[in-house]
Amino acid sequence: MEMALEEARAAGKRGEVPIGAVVVVDGSTVAASGNRTRELNDVTAHAEIAAIRMACEKLGQERLAGADLYVTLEPCTMCAAAISFARIRRLYYGAEDPKGGAVDNGVRFYTQPTCHHAPEVYSGFNETESADMLRAFFSEKRDLP
Ligand SMILES: [Zn+2]
Repeated sequence: MEMALEEARAAGKRGEVPIGAVVVVDGSTVAASGNRTRELNDVTAHAEIAAIRMACEKLGQERLAGADLYVTLEPCTMCAAAISFARIRRLYYGAEDPKGGAVDNGVRFYTQPTCHHAPEVYSGFNETESADMLRAFFSEKRDLP
């Protein structure tokens, strides 16, 4: 989770929303990314999806069965679905996101009958640091002229 936080910090410095994600297989990090939506002009380039893409490419496989994903914020609906499609084994996330989350908030994607693979979910890791980083980022944005 520390590495995910580093990715989030780096994303914030690039002007991206400070969220970071890391994919781990058998204790080794295979991919790490922050949000890249601005850099790539791609609304789907959330940290989780960027990290999943990177891991699949590196491993030369379509899915990531047995992999674990660490992300600093509760995944949104799009990312929760991508995590399911990738067959991620365990999802560890930092802060809850009551406004945009889809795991323990919103649509609670993994509890829906249309979800065919649900990861084990663990939350609350470094949640204060994750949430503070986002709050600081958005309060700075609001202060802009
Ligand atoms: Zn997302």
